[in-house]
Amino acid sequence: MKRADDLDVAGRTVLVRADLNVPMDGAAITDDGRIRASLPTLRDLVSRGARVIVCAHLGRPRGDGYAERAAGGPSLAPVAARLADLLGQPVPLAADVAGESARATVAGLAGGQAAMLENVRFEPAETSKDDEVRGQLAGRLAALAGLYVGDGFGAMHRTHASVYDTPLLLPHAAGQLVLAEVAVLRQLTTSPARPYVVVLGGAKVSDKLAVIGNLVGSASPHPTTPPKADRLLIAGGMAYTFLAAQGHRVGDSILQAEQIPQVTTALAGADKADVEVVLPVDHVVADRFASGAEPEVVPGPDIPDGKMGLDIGPATRELFAAKLADAKTVFWNGPPGVFEFPAFAAGTLAVAEAISHVTGLTVVGGGDSAAAVRHLNLPADAFTHISTGGGASLEYLEGRDLPGLAALENGE
Ligand code: ADP
Ligand code: MG
Repeated sequence: MKRADDLDVAGRTVLVRADLNVPMDGAAITDDGRIRASLPTLRDLVSRGARVIVCAHLGRPRGDGYAERAAGGPSLAPVAARLADLLGQPVPLAADVAGESARATVAGLAGGQAAMLENVRFEPAETSKDDEVRGQLAGRLAALAGLYVGDGFGAMHRTHASVYDTPLLLPHAAGQLVLAEVAVLRQLTTSPARPYVVVLGGAKVSDKLAVIGNLVGSASPHPTTPPKADRLLIAGGMAYTFLAAQGHRVGDSILQAEQIPQVTTALAGADKADVEVVLPVDHVVADRFASGAEPEVVPGPDIPDGKMGLDIGPATRELFAAKLADAKTVFWNGPPGVFEFPAFAAGTLAVAEAISHVTGLTVVGGGDSAAAVRHLNLPADAFTHISTGGGASLEYLEGRDLPGLAALENGE
């Protein structure tokens, strides 16, 4: 894969696909980690005299056509403003993605200046399943620039026009963030130091079943099947489907009953492959899903009717810390509780602290997990790497090819 460093960019127009999909509360950015992670590449290109155009998406615009989506938002305006602050120079935002305003914005750029395109998902073609439809948008994006740099790791598992089709139309290279992410994930997938402990949490088990299948060795092996974990600690909303599969009561907790057969298969696979699966042994529950809900500890795996599990309990926190204590490699994806509500954040803090004491390779993946640990104010070296990509890092761990990476590797 060619590196952006190796491109001669002075005076050239460079289209950078970044991942700036930050969590928002209205128009306020609640965690700017992804913007900061994109800075090394952008600073480098600007300092070398490139005319930089940043293309990114934000949220999930709704509506059938461009006009409806653009009217509904979200606009990248707050992101462009934050990027300008961090870069220390103006970052004008085009009023469209690849139309008249984008062309005028690019035409107004001098070497060493940067601008942004509006939310690329205002263009329904961005996420189209139809190659020709995506190709048409890719053509308009490519016409804006002479070079393409892929640095949006968090979007690289998507076959989207700006991620996959556009780099095929321009001389292209990988940015620093992508190169850093791939270097770390490659270490996890090639003979990790053992014990290799994986902590999975988050809301839905369906998002993570494929990676679980690989980590317990029950997925059909192919040349790129990643190594098995020694231990799998499961918490968060997905734990309730596991507990239900084992016959426990889960009360009103988030449950994906239709996934119970797959979960049962994964548990059997783990058993056969000698992968230790550790589930919560107690919970912090409430009677409603709300920040102000009264937390209550349930001292066993079963949750009474009328209550929902929102965090792991104190015994589980200790158990997980003990299961992490001797780890030499850790991958953590998905918060073990609803950390957004302070009364239910203790489990996430405990897991983050336990991992921060591990000497060895420790990787946190996932937008929400990364945002959670940044808010905990742990020391900067608490983890080896905080990945910006949730789905992308999981798919990499599944041994799947990421379309965005494949496109950057194409033509070399
Ligand atoms: P990531 O973005 O790190 O991959 P996910 O998107 O999979 O993580 O999951 C994050 C969400 O999971 C958080 O918003 C958190 O509130 C939620 N979550 C964690 N534990 C629970 C639970 N017990 N019940 C409901 N939601 C939960
Ligand atoms: Mg998430």
